[in-house]
Amino acid sequence: MSSVKKAFLLFLLFVVLLPSVLKDQLSVFAESDPSGQNVKNVILMIPDGFSSAHAANYRIFKEGEFVLDSILVGMMKTHSKNSWVTDSAAAGTAMATGVKTRNGFIGIDEDGNSLKTILEAAKEEGKGTGLVGTKSITDATPAAFATHVHTRQNEGEIARQLMNKVDVLLGGGERNFLPASSGGVQEQRNLIKEAESSGYTFVQTKSELAEVKPNVEKLLGLFADNMMAAEIDRHRTEEPSLQEMTETALALLRRNNNGFFLMVEGSKIDRAGHAHDPAWVMHDIAAFESAVITALEFAEKDGETLVVVAGDHDTGGMSVGGYDEYRAEPEMLRKVEATAQFIAQCFNSERTNISEVMKQYTHLDVTKSEINELYRADIEKVPYLIAQIVSRSAYIDWVTYEHTGVDVPIYAYGPRSSLFQGVLDNTDLPKRIAKAMKINF
Ligand SMILES: [Zn+2]
Repeated sequence: MSSVKKAFLLFLLFVVLLPSVLKDQLSVFAESDPSGQNVKNVILMIPDGFSSAHAANYRIFKEGEFVLDSILVGMMKTHSKNSWVTDSAAAGTAMATGVKTRNGFIGIDEDGNSLKTILEAAKEEGKGTGLVGTKSITDATPAAFATHVHTRQNEGEIARQLMNKVDVLLGGGERNFLPASSGGVQEQRNLIKEAESSGYTFVQTKSELAEVKPNVEKLLGLFADNMMAAEIDRHRTEEPSLQEMTETALALLRRNNNGFFLMVEGSKIDRAGHAHDPAWVMHDIAAFESAVITALEFAEKDGETLVVVAGDHDTGGMSVGGYDEYRAEPEMLRKVEATAQFIAQCFNSERTNISEVMKQYTHLDVTKSEINELYRADIEKVPYLIAQIVSRSAYIDWVTYEHTGVDVPIYAYGPRSSLFQGVLDNTDLPKRIAKAMKINF
């Protein structure tokens, strides 16, 4: 057959088959998106610093189904007002208010005007509100949903603004709620005492969180001085998992008859990307996935809950494969048992136990030249070198220690989830959530 005929036949096949394939695809979405159904509750989940390369590596690492794959609906552009590469403050502001702003700004436009957030709009309708994350709860992403400040560094002011606006606050960052005299960093006031006297129940550990009664109306949980632990290191702490925090938040918020808006952030996927630590990345995605499963199960039972999942930007530019080979082995990361930061702390002061410590926590046989490099490196460079050795073993490479401007995947489940199909801008996200909830925004 001539190549022209072949091309023509292929074209015919394409024209005849494509519409039926598309129809099947759309009917799958239609089933999970019953039109006309009410959206009473929204759970917005943000895997901070997560892009499609994270999804691909994690799928291989897990050797099983990635739950988010089944609810993929679109892609999202992430740039900020003043840069093609956003920071978390501008990205969070866009995703919370529908307006692009400058990097570093929280809940205000580029001229400094306060912007209404989707959480504030939901609260005006009498809905319950919650913010959950694994860095400080005053960090940029949760802050952007309920506070308005000119710089994300002003975490004492952010803590003040969060109080009494948000019913459920769970995460790290206790030091931002305490006066400097008692170990805090910025505050004059003891915001935890103030919270308790205005009706918040305060908890600090995994077991205290587990004992919270469902009739508690306002809950403040601060489980770490600053950031909470990396998931891969969490078993060495008293901290709850992201899934446990999500479950408690849902148990409390579901009691509001008007519904609720809850934002859950997998905050440390981003930190792991900044550290170029691929095992840490994989375990924090797993922790996020468990929280997503809890949200999806809630939504499935409830029938009036929309779940939307989208990262705020990529962090690190992690690759799937690299080092000039057609090869990727993220499954190697399953052997790694700690973050590079933790492993570095296990080296003795003379650094004579490098080989044994690396073997114990990564199950890798490090070469003589790697040992030499680790032996001679400045102390603050050691975790990066360990992360580099682990990355190389999995054929993962990185392009930057900061964020990149690639698009990120959007996932959605429940009534009106089809609103999030296609290529969206990050400013479309809260507008479509408001449309789904039929609230003034
Ligand atoms: Zn971020």
